[in-house]
Amino acid sequence: MPPPHAPSGSLFMVVAPSGAGKSTLVNALLAQEPAIKLSISFTTRAPRPAEQHGREYYFTSADDFQERNSRGEFLESAEVHGNYYGTSRLLITEQMQAGTDVLLEIDWQGAQQVKKQFPHAVGIFILPPSIAALEERLKKRGQDEPQVITRRILAAGGEIAHAPEFEYVIINQEFAVALSELTAIVNATRCRFAQQAARNASLFAQLGIHANLS
Ligand code: 5GP
Repeated sequence: MPPPHAPSGSLFMVVAPSGAGKSTLVNALLAQEPAIKLSISFTTRAPRPAEQHGREYYFTSADDFQERNSRGEFLESAEVHGNYYGTSRLLITEQMQAGTDVLLEIDWQGAQQVKKQFPHAVGIFILPPSIAALEERLKKRGQDEPQVITRRILAAGGEIAHAPEFEYVIINQEFAVALSELTAIVNATRCRFAQQAARNASLFAQLGIHANLS
């Protein structure tokens, strides 16, 4: 925990099965909330045609990933759909110390690891309105090989089983509704006592509010 009144950004973890529309939702949130920093993960997965190194992911080899992992560079890491993914510890801790809100797009295994280290991290699970809608989105996206799509559809049930571990659930049936729900969660988190006290330290002192935030 940061000391009382130290800058303290919020940490959001957005988790969903492939095809729930998570990235589209997150990108729309970031477009309207540019102050939130999206964590760029490392992955051993091959880039999709439209993806760029350093924008969607830092694409790397399995050997490099393992070396970074053994050096303790990852805040969390997991094997998902046969590839490795990891979040840089340095980038996250630096941004949070600077008072920046950070968003992680990770899987449920990573969310469990982050929650152990940052118990105030806010977990948001995105559900599809149906399995059929999820399958359709994955096929329409057309960015993965058919066997990869099948693998992801089969894995969806296992991921969805972890939804109860999250504070918030958004059902992505209507995009505009889902986005306004995600925005509401972000705004409510920013109004938590600890976040307000960190952002408005001098006002709180002026008003004589001295809280032990640890
Ligand atoms: P994709 O290959 O479709 O980009 O991502 C596959 C899955 O890996 C998604 O559920 C995504 O959220 C998850 N993922 C992406 N980056 C990370 C990460 O850094 N850590 C963990 N644990 N999962 C990640």
